[in-house]
Amino acid sequence: MIEKKHIIDRFTSYVTIDTESDPNSNTTPSTEKQWNLANKLVEELKQIGLEDVTIDENAYIMATLPSNVSYPVPVIGFISHFDTSPDFTGANVKPQIIENYDGKDIVLNEEQNIILSPDYFEDLLMYKGQTLITTDGTTLLGADDKAGITEIVSAMEYLINNPEIKHGKIRVGFTPDEEIGRGAHKFDVEKFGAEWAYTMDGSQVGELEYENFNAAGAVVTIKGKIVHPGYAKGKMINSMYIATDYINSLPRLETPEHTEGREGFFHLHTIDGSVDETKLQYIIRDHNKEHFEARKEMMKELANDINEQFQMEAVSVKIKDQYFNMREKIEPVMHIVSIAKEAMEQLGFKPLIKPIRGGTDGSQLSFMGLPCPNIFAGGHNFHGRYEYVPVESIIKATEVIVKIAELTAKDLTNYKSGEE
Ligand SMILES: [Zn+2]
Repeated sequence: MIEKKHIIDRFTSYVTIDTESDPNSNTTPSTEKQWNLANKLVEELKQIGLEDVTIDENAYIMATLPSNVSYPVPVIGFISHFDTSPDFTGANVKPQIIENYDGKDIVLNEEQNIILSPDYFEDLLMYKGQTLITTDGTTLLGADDKAGITEIVSAMEYLINNPEIKHGKIRVGFTPDEEIGRGAHKFDVEKFGAEWAYTMDGSQVGELEYENFNAAGAVVTIKGKIVHPGYAKGKMINSMYIATDYINSLPRLETPEHTEGREGFFHLHTIDGSVDETKLQYIIRDHNKEHFEARKEMMKELANDINEQFQMEAVSVKIKDQYFNMREKIEPVMHIVSIAKEAMEQLGFKPLIKPIRGGTDGSQLSFMGLPCPNIFAGGHNFHGRYEYVPVESIIKATEVIVKIAELTAKDLTNYKSGEE
């Protein structure tokens, strides 16, 4: 049995340490304060009995739970991140514990009238009768991804305390700076030495993800010609009008607010303009690789069309790939998804398999040679004051880790049938 109070205490001890990351910093970790939790985690991993506990100069933590069987079993890993999002403050987190949730409004902050309500956040109703951990309305919670860390540490502790559960060698990895897109950047895949791993960084119970967007960023620069408005006839070219034409020429319904599932989009997120020059910043997203390439091509062709029309190099487009859909790296080793699925089913709940409309550290790791699907960590409403996590979900995720460890030490032939 995984004890609820133990989980709450562990989770609370993590979220009350501020680990907000900073996209404007060039160091790793991006903020000095991430060391506070990192150093504490190192001590805790040693204390529960893991071996080879290491932390490198960039605060990447790794540890080993040795195999307790005499036959060969693939080495697997579990990964989460200890930084929290710079979107909202993570300083002075004061977690509130709501036991036996009654399905009604939760007053997060009486003074500031901040309410967490199932009228708006319907997902809350799934957790009636459970124990919720919320914020006090003034900070984020940091369940993303300190719930993941709680789950991995607790699962390793459970396996150590219950040696009758047979498992192979398991590697644990905790990273800084995931929230600013750099969690995988300095992750030493070779040193980690696992055949595959799972990030514990999804949301609701059952989530299991191995598809994410292909992603690129585009900067469209439009040059105009500035002339005194009183003498401008036939001479002035206003870059902002050309920019408007450019924006309107892209498919108007292929934007984040009009798409879902596996539908891709162009997302204009910043306009910076004057007569002389306008810069448009886009992100391009698509699960399908060909469609992704076609989107990039479309943005360039559109620029060419306008340049031809104006007989000058008015528009230039710079596109930079950001990350790719991990699906192509997972499909050849689908047993790693099947094992996670089977683990959830054996624990009595349904895996929710859906494409991620974003990226994960796991997608980068998959392309670095460590196939890495993503599993739920249990939290909701990430990156803001309404973030909450049911303790029961943290326990379920912990049990999933234990079960995956157990299943991986069994005969994998069934999971592998159908693979090349
Ligand atoms: Zn996360």
